[in-house]
Amino acid sequence: MMHIDIITVHPGLLEGPFSHSILKRAIQKNLVEINIINLRDYATNKHKSVDDYAFGGGAGMVMMIEPIDHCIADLKSKRTYDEVIYMSPDGEQLNQGMSNSLSLKKNIIILCGHYKGVDERVRQHLITREISVGDYVLSGGELPAAVLCDSIIRIIPGVLNDETSALSDSFQDNLLAPPVYTRPANYKGWDVPEVLLSGNESLINEWRHLQSLERTQIRRPDLSDNNSK
Ligand code: SAH
Repeated sequence: MMHIDIITVHPGLLEGPFSHSILKRAIQKNLVEINIINLRDYATNKHKSVDDYAFGGGAGMVMMIEPIDHCIADLKSKRTYDEVIYMSPDGEQLNQGMSNSLSLKKNIIILCGHYKGVDERVRQHLITREISVGDYVLSGGELPAAVLCDSIIRIIPGVLNDETSALSDSFQDNLLAPPVYTRPANYKGWDVPEVLLSGNESLINEWRHLQSLERTQIRRPDLSDNNSK
């Protein structure tokens, strides 16, 4: 079973994502274990603080190295970790390939930053990988951590009922997914493409593949460049 420890100063922000739908089911099926750790439990001073003013001045607080080091050391005393990930807007940008390979790992720590981020020495000495969810800044690493976990967990074999359905999603094979339709076949005169109602599996597959190619060419030509490499 995959094990993910998430270190945060706002555990409440992570309650929702893991208690519904596919992620909830994955946890119930024992395919993944999520452990949310309150960094404040590792605070060392009497005020239980985990952040302090930045050396050199300037606005915004910085998360201190000491509680984070103690927390990670405590976790490492119980398990061996494949990765210690820091969610950060200047990290490597998350993509499907990264999620695919992370879903094969056994034990992962994810550190969520807050305020101005963490003391740089945490990144230099305690972190093995830094991941961004995109070129925009959020208030904390919790939503990015939830995004990362969702993308990893949904492709663990056995999590989705129909395993082939993750394989036909966008970005697997560098192709966007084809359009999908369901009943009614005609709504206000808006028809479902005839071929999908034909029952002819090979024609349908061919149509879907062409739609995928066309959609990728139009919306994300950068992905098709990868295909021809
Ligand atoms: N001052 C930092 C931003 C801090 S935002 C900078 O300019 O780079 C506070 C925290 O939110 C970060 O420590 C990080 O953990 C998280 N965060 C914000 N945006 C993110 C993004 N796009 N991807 C991943 N984590 C992000």
